[in-house]
Amino acid sequence: MVPEASSILWIATSADEEASDVRNGSGDADASVLFNLSGFRVHAHTMVEGEWWLAVDTIETRAACRTCGVFGVGNGRRKVLIRDLPIAGVPVVLVWSKRTWRCREAECERGSWSETCDEIGVRASLTERARRDICRRVGRDLDTVAEVAREFGVGWFCAHQAVIDHGDELIEADRRLEHVTALGVDEHTFHHANASRRTQMVTTFVDIDRGRLLDAVPGRSGEVVRTWVKARPFWWADRIQIATIDAFAGYASAIRDVLPDATLVVDHFHAIRLASECVNDVRRRVQQATTGHRGRKGDPLYGIRRILLMTWKNLNDKGWERLRAGLAAGDPDGEIAAVWLARELLSEAYAANGIAHARRRLIVFFQHAADAEIPELTRLARTVDRWSKEILAYHTTGGASNGPTEAINLLIEKIRRIGHGYRNFDNYRRRLLLGCGIQWTTVPTHRIRGRQPASAA
Ligand SMILES: [Zn+2]
Repeated sequence: MVPEASSILWIATSADEEASDVRNGSGDADASVLFNLSGFRVHAHTMVEGEWWLAVDTIETRAACRTCGVFGVGNGRRKVLIRDLPIAGVPVVLVWSKRTWRCREAECERGSWSETCDEIGVRASLTERARRDICRRVGRDLDTVAEVAREFGVGWFCAHQAVIDHGDELIEADRRLEHVTALGVDEHTFHHANASRRTQMVTTFVDIDRGRLLDAVPGRSGEVVRTWVKARPFWWADRIQIATIDAFAGYASAIRDVLPDATLVVDHFHAIRLASECVNDVRRRVQQATTGHRGRKGDPLYGIRRILLMTWKNLNDKGWERLRAGLAAGDPDGEIAAVWLARELLSEAYAANGIAHARRRLIVFFQHAADAEIPELTRLARTVDRWSKEILAYHTTGGASNGPTEAINLLIEKIRRIGHGYRNFDNYRRRLLLGCGIQWTTVPTHRIRGRQPASAA
């Protein structure tokens, strides 16, 4: 889209005419104030095909040669176009009349040079403040790079580079690794297996107290945890009092190695996830046994697959009705119902009133699992038994790890969905940390209305 030649001509001419204004300091003072880029002023503006074109230049009136230090003489101007932050939702193009200078010193080798500024990089197509804003939009607000690039009128790679440059700076500078006392270790799938690769897992480290992602590392093993913790300063590990993990022996033994003073907890979130997998396994087996095929639309068990993963506390009358009808039609031996109940009983152990109460509730869970005689449930009960110390530790460590872990997992899921999956792990890690790992500073604004709503007429 090329703006009308006459408009460009107009803005270019006014930029030249301004040369005489430099000395008496005129220009569009109001526009300069609103433009608000230190060291710059606006001396003309025009609307070109729905975009603001602003003719700007610096207020600098002299410049010393960087080679010999002698002040240079003006050597004309060169126009460059740069995109800036939108004004009131309207895209902005800056027409910067860049001064060029020539060294007065005859002996000097430098010849001529043009002015530079921190806010506008050499040959940049965006101002730095626009690049910072792109990073914030993609990182904090979870907008896609494509979407933001379109809005700023630049290419995908240009916007993406802004996210890399400013994002990495933020990630490095943030103090996210300081003052952590409760560490959550979790894992999720980065890439599902296909013909050419195996499933790729990612281990995530979470600050449970602040509910923030500390890091994401490829792989799922004790070695990943060991290496990551060992890379922290020595005092960092000393401060960790609680470590919550999945019931995964690799993580547990690594934590015992590198964080010997931390209390190991298998928290509610992870235990229930394990039990939910068990519900899914039994549902799939019963589905196959009763219908001879995998669940599909119209099958009673397939219809309630999501309800089966909900706790009874979250079911309304309609949900109960669907659950009961689905099980009556598709679960002839009551196996799914039994596993579903087992998961609720396990959840009750977490909701218990103190450790003694929780221990009694676990006994109820074990009793139920033994009576049911379902292979998947027996296996789950064995796992729970093996980890009962860590499960009960939930009650001695404040029991508050669930919310943050779950919230971070939901955010991770959201970021993956928005990005339609990621091929490059570095990009993925950057986006995760920008989205749920760092503290974004937002300048507070004043209220322009009182707290009380205006009284209705
Ligand atoms: Zn010089």
